[in-house]
Amino acid sequence: MQHDVDVLIIGAGQAGLAAGYYLHRANRDLAPARQVSFALVDARDEPGGAWQDAWDSLRLFSPSDTSSLPGRQLAPEPGVTYRLASVLPEYFRDYEARYELPVTHGIRIRSVFRDGKRWLALGEDGQQWTARILINATGVWDAPVIPQIPGADTFSGELLHTVDYRRASDFTGKRVVVVGGGNSGAQIAADLLETAASLDWTTRRPPRLMPDHIDGADLFRLTSLRVAGKPISPDDVPVGDIIAVESVRRARDKHGLTARELFTHFDDRGVIWPDGSRSDVDTVIMCTGFAPALAHLAPLGLAHPPAVDDIEPSQSREHPGLFFLGYGDWCGPASATIIGAGRAAKGCIASVLDYLAEARR
Ligand code: FAD
Repeated sequence: MQHDVDVLIIGAGQAGLAAGYYLHRANRDLAPARQVSFALVDARDEPGGAWQDAWDSLRLFSPSDTSSLPGRQLAPEPGVTYRLASVLPEYFRDYEARYELPVTHGIRIRSVFRDGKRWLALGEDGQQWTARILINATGVWDAPVIPQIPGADTFSGELLHTVDYRRASDFTGKRVVVVGGGNSGAQIAADLLETAASLDWTTRRPPRLMPDHIDGADLFRLTSLRVAGKPISPDDVPVGDIIAVESVRRARDKHGLTARELFTHFDDRGVIWPDGSRSDVDTVIMCTGFAPALAHLAPLGLAHPPAVDDIEPSQSREHPGLFFLGYGDWCGPASATIIGAGRAAKGCIASVLDYLAEARR
């Protein structure tokens, strides 16, 4: 079945929903003849984007007012500063309904082509969309990055990635190594401390925790100052890669959680450390990051990462009419956060409306 719209948004996680919100809002103010038809399509059967796969103990790193999509604040929970991430899928479901966002769930777009002046997106089950504008908001969760470490193919234990981690109790009694010096590595290591039979947290470089009082809201405020061109004192910029959330602080202070230097290679039953010693290991969890999930855009032959406009960073420089939302700073400052996705989407939709107005002239 073919659907023809002005704007197709691929991905209905926070970035896609925020774009949908601004289109919905624009239509409210436009005469019927000028309204923009749009659709969102998402591979997942249910609302919530990647948050549906968050591990049970994961808490947001900002309070509710800086963990919200535009137009509707995530409700605060009395006595709780940082809400559990597991509340987000319900919040997204409510958001889709409240703004009547036309989301088709359960269809993955397999490939995208340019067809004259329109985009052609081919989905599963014979579903396809054509659109003047394509907003790609497919996140990173579907493209986990696992570094090549010698001997990995001989390792007989479990080799997992952040995307596979759900709860500490799945690892009760196991000897676990957690790899990665970012937020996920620190938090998963902290989560496992009391359950695993043994735990090694290992990183390429010594991990750097930000000062304890810094949270995601502080980082967003700094980004906002930077975007506004306001002066920022170097003393206000926290040094570090890891937000010292409560679970990480507790692991550090109560259990002395520290990281050791990354192992050099695997053998069949474990890992070999730089000093030549070895550990038997049941599970290695790679918290080693993600790449933008862009496989369906392969026919367009994009650069990696895609080249975007300097002024409107969400628009592709190689393919005008193609926009990227949510992947990281390269497509809008803080755009890979819930609050930042809203700001990036606002700028993106302003450009989309200009583009459509120009095309209709
Ligand atoms: P996603 O949520 O991944 O949504 C993309 C959607 O696109 C998915 O539903 C996917 O199924 C769909 N999709 C993908 N490919 C296709 C396709 N080909 N066709 C159709 N659909 C497709 N941010 C904060 O603001 N606060 C936090 O506390 C916070 N904590 C985080 C903790 C962790 C462990 C991680 C990994 C990230 C955290 N972030 C946090 C960052 C960020 O908010 C998330 O990464 C967020 O999920 C990104 O949203 P998104 O909409 O870009 O992508």
